Amino acid sequence: MIFFDVDTQRDFMDVDGALAVPEAEAIKPNLERLLRAAGQYGITTISSRCAHEPGDAEFEIFPPHCLDETPGAERVFEALPELPRHEIPVDAVADPQAKLAAGEHYILKKKVFDQFSNAWLAGLRQSGAFKDETFVVFGVATDYCVRACVLGLAEGGARVQVVEDAIRGVAPETTRQTFAEMRAAGVEFTTTDEVLKNLADI
Ligand SMILES: [Zn+2]
Repeated sequence: MIFFDVDTQRDFMDVDGALAVPEAEAIKPNLERLLRAAGQYGITTISSRCAHEPGDAEFEIFPPHCLDETPGAERVFEALPELPRHEIPVDAVADPQAKLAAGEHYILKKKVFDQFSNAWLAGLRQSGAFKDETFVVFGVATDYCVRACVLGLAEGGARVQVVEDAIRGVAPETTRQTFAEMRAAGVEFTTTDEVLKNLADI
């Protein structure tokens, strides 16, 4: 099992963030529980994070957010999970030999909302590393970055479980459409309690 922690950065999560997702504050306790559990049970975790520079192409669509090395780009639970870390830069290259190590934390930087814009992650999918792997996905925003992550993992043959009380969307209509697309792709839905209970039972 692998956790995918999507863009849980201050500019999206905090009520006064540059691109605040409505009600994102409400999921913070569940995000913290999931990320703590990842450290406790040694679950490999990928945290995607926007790492922008002024003038990035994405700012033609969205207001400027998550400028690299600024407080808005920090993850709300920056210290979690408590696991050895690897930072995957925006311009990382695909590595056919790359493998996700057990119990490690990968911080995946990106300049586009789709995580698979990072060639390292796209390369892992290409090499079949996600096939039949179970991913537990949480974060923001359901209708943008979580959507790209979930559908991208499903495309790579992964079993994907979305933690419905640990995600939030930008707009009700696009969020509804996203749920329908996820269901059509065979994605499953779960809750924070259920994920933690299953971990405790193993
Ligand atoms: Zn961004």
